[in-house]
Amino acid sequence: QPLSSREIREKFLEYFEKMDHLKIGASSIVPQNDPTLLFINSGMAPLKNYFLGKETPPSPRLANYQPCIRTKDIDDVGDRHHLTIFEMLGSWSIGDYYKDKACKLAYDLLVDELDFDPKRLYFTVYGGNEDLGIKPDTESIEAWKKCGVPEDHIVVLGDDNFWGPAGDHGPCGPCTEVFYDTGTEYGPEYKPGGHFDDVSRYIEIWNAGVFMELNKKKDGTFEPLPLKSVDTGSGLERLAMVMNGCDSVYETDLLAPLMQLSKELLGKNTDVQTERMISDHMRASIMILGEGIMPGNEGQGYIPRRLIRKCVAACISRGVKPVFKKHIQKTIEMLGDYYPQLKSAREAIIYNMEQEINEFVPIVENGLKKIEEELSTNPKSKELFPGHVAFELVTTHGLPLEVIKAELASKNIEFAEIEYNECYEAHRKASRVISRKGGVAADQERIELEFIEVDDTEFTGYDSLET
Ligand code: ATP
Ligand code: MG
Ligand code: MG
Ligand code: MG
Repeated sequence: QPLSSREIREKFLEYFEKMDHLKIGASSIVPQNDPTLLFINSGMAPLKNYFLGKETPPSPRLANYQPCIRTKDIDDVGDRHHLTIFEMLGSWSIGDYYKDKACKLAYDLLVDELDFDPKRLYFTVYGGNEDLGIKPDTESIEAWKKCGVPEDHIVVLGDDNFWGPAGDHGPCGPCTEVFYDTGTEYGPEYKPGGHFDDVSRYIEIWNAGVFMELNKKKDGTFEPLPLKSVDTGSGLERLAMVMNGCDSVYETDLLAPLMQLSKELLGKNTDVQTERMISDHMRASIMILGEGIMPGNEGQGYIPRRLIRKCVAACISRGVKPVFKKHIQKTIEMLGDYYPQLKSAREAIIYNMEQEINEFVPIVENGLKKIEEELSTNPKSKELFPGHVAFELVTTHGLPLEVIKAELASKNIEFAEIEYNECYEAHRKASRVISRKGGVAADQERIELEFIEVDDTEFTGYDSLET
């Protein structure tokens, strides 16, 4: 009996409430008073001050659902399980219970409440780091064993299982994660001592405990934290995917309706990767616009601009008119109960989306025409598309690099990336000189160059918060 994403979300929260956790509301994806983040990228991010002891939580045990934006995963969109926007179900113990109970809570929820087959679950733990003088996390191993997990389903891994301060000091600690075995058709079986391939067959479903127990000092050494806390996060789309035996998150009820719309939109030139890209990018853009953020060249507005423009370009290069009104309606219909701001922002979302599309359509039409011209006048460019031509398309014609790359890839044409990067570097050096002179042109160039730089909403550490 398949569970809907609604039911999974509710079951997760009900379970933790039953276990004395206080259910708190989701925060906006726009960080409040946090200059280190462009967008909220984990359930824990809006709660950071509780862990630092700067604010007192309403309860030492919390649970919630939280939409997260991870633009650093943008290039993984299209694989089975990475989205630029997803919902994280989270639970926390702030100076309350620790590893034993955290693991037991996670195990019981998965196996008893959500009916996971324990044979398909794998548990990764931190193997320690001698160089840093950090011991292996044997307590988590023991905690899983107490739940009944057999030894060959416990996988000891390296630094991926240490949650560190991205800056050079701050709270940190080992983490333990739950993976789901999606079956032999997706890759080789893990055998103890062998390679644990977590990209295809084994899908990470729950960071079941970041155990914050150490403080990394500025001199690089570690000391124990006075307050030990647990931070967990599980992707709702991934739970829905593996629980319902879907090949990817896109077949779940959270994305399937958008996939259908994307397919209809793309018509006869459709392909699954583009459908996935549009479905994800639209959902993310709509959520961001729903927060009152407008597409633009700077800060937060740059993200929906980049996402929307990729979708527009994909349509135009297929000769399809970019119209995403149905995506907007559907997204609001699906998520509006949980994120009511979406409903009240409906008209603004439609309007700002249209503005962005109208602004970009002529740019991309012209840019793609220029690519065609280059291909027909310079036969060699069909083998290797010259980097300097691409660079000119970016800087003079405003065509985003990723649009150029996608267009060439769809035609199976290689792209001279190294040459492109050389042009980019040379230009950057030169424009530093221009910038010093100031002026509108310099500003415009800077904006266009920024547009092609990959953005990142990663949490960059506690540094700037501590001062
Ligand atoms: P991965 O290794 O798959 O990229 P992660 O280790 O970066 O995931 P965490 O930071 O541990 O993820 O986040 C907690 C949980 O959030 C993950 O276990 C997963 O269920 C979910 N999650 C993380 N990134 C994504 C994403 N891009 N799309 C959908 N769900 C995600
Ligand atoms: Mg990741
Ligand atoms: Mg991971
Ligand atoms: Mg993880």
